[in-house]
Amino acid sequence: MKKISIIGGGASGLLCAIYCARQNLSVDLFEQNQKLGKKILVSGNGRCNITNEHLSSDNYFSQHPEFVSYALDNFGFNAFRKFCKSIGLFLDIKSDGKVYPLSNEARSVLTLLTTHAKKLGVNIFVDSKITDVQAMLLKYDAVVVATGSQAASHLGGNSDGLEFAREFGHNIIQTYPSLVQLETDSKLLKKMAGAKMNGEVTLLINNQVEQTTKGDILFTNYGLSGFAILDISQSASVALSEYRSVQVSLNLLPSFTAQKLSAYILSASKEIKYITLHEILCGLVPHKIATGIIMHLNVEEQTSTIDTKLSKKIANALLNLRFTIDATHGFRHAEVAGGGVDLSEIDPKTMESYKQKNLYFCGEVLDVVGERGGYNFAWAWASAYLAAQSISVK
Ligand SMILES: Cc1cc2nc3c(=O)[nH]c(=O)nc-3n(C[C@H](O)[C@H](O)[C@H](O)COP(=O)(O)OP(=O)(O)OC[C@H]3O[C@@H](n4cnc5c(N)ncnc54)[C@H](O)[C@@H]3O)c2cc1C
Repeated sequence: MKKISIIGGGASGLLCAIYCARQNLSVDLFEQNQKLGKKILVSGNGRCNITNEHLSSDNYFSQHPEFVSYALDNFGFNAFRKFCKSIGLFLDIKSDGKVYPLSNEARSVLTLLTTHAKKLGVNIFVDSKITDVQAMLLKYDAVVVATGSQAASHLGGNSDGLEFAREFGHNIIQTYPSLVQLETDSKLLKKMAGAKMNGEVTLLINNQVEQTTKGDILFTNYGLSGFAILDISQSASVALSEYRSVQVSLNLLPSFTAQKLSAYILSASKEIKYITLHEILCGLVPHKIATGIIMHLNVEEQTSTIDTKLSKKIANALLNLRFTIDATHGFRHAEVAGGGVDLSEIDPKTMESYKQKNLYFCGEVLDVVGERGGYNFAWAWASAYLAAQSISVK
């Protein structure tokens, strides 16, 4: 019986183990943590955005954007749904294409993957950090590196897989944090820390508009967070790593034009008796943001005399509040990492290394990173499936 070693008991390692075991291969799965699938458990705020109904190479970033297409065509949404059904996991498809377990709990995903793997006879070794892949290749017919990325080190994120790849002569594309908060050293932001708004975020790189997104914006002591910020963080992180200037412009009231907003502020100050500037702003944005905007404009909080010039300035601050970004919040806080094992040295149909026979890579260790929305798990599942198929037919 062929013996397979899988290094990493996360998303891709578990799925690969199940498919190999279904082909009656003998599978040993090694996980450095005491428990399997820590990232699965915390994913999607404990709900696990497990995949997306609409998968395409356009949802991924890498040096070789077409690399993911074969895997996504062969193990796309329908194939994955069938797999989930085969382990007893029902899915809830949202109208925007995001997919969650019907239970709405990440725990269901991990429990069903783990129990299924165990029932198929996968030998699971936890607390087992692998350091020597060369030795493993002598002992096993195939070795799968499913060690993930450096993102979220408190959950097991590390660069072990990259080191393993280097030992076999692989090139590594420089890694960077993605789906991550952004840091800025701004007194204004510190004043606004704790406030949350739904707004529009524009990313400017070297003063050129790169991307605009809508969604939650969270003001924190270190900088900016929230879904809209995570969505621009991929491009921001790459630009920062290339020492380009990165700015973020926040439109806190996208339903207003500058003209409409300044006219409203002017009329409110005239028509609502005794209303102060702070009160006008509190009717539009959260209290802390109102206070911050007043500090930013260096005007008197209690003022009730607002002229056209000031109303235009206020409108501009609310619709185009700019921050210079100094850094990302780092790998520890990132959901994923971009960069990784160079795809030009991996077979896109099998995930086998072109440098070393019987050595496979799958999941986030490779130079593939997806947008927010279930795309990163989708890649983990699809690449793991290809590795398992290839190992089984060899
Ligand atoms: C907070 C958070 C939320 C997320 N939410 C989502 C989401 O909702 N949807 C989505 O699509 N993606 C999400 N992601 C990303 C997703 O979790 C990853 O893309 C996915 O888990 C990658 O799968 P993987 O198998 O490549 O790596 P992992 O799941 O990270 O598994 C790798 C495993 O290998 C182990 N390991 C590492 N080195 C060794 C070694 N030397 N020996 C033995 N074991 C080792 C690690 O401990 C880990 O358990 C989220 C990530 C985080 C951090």
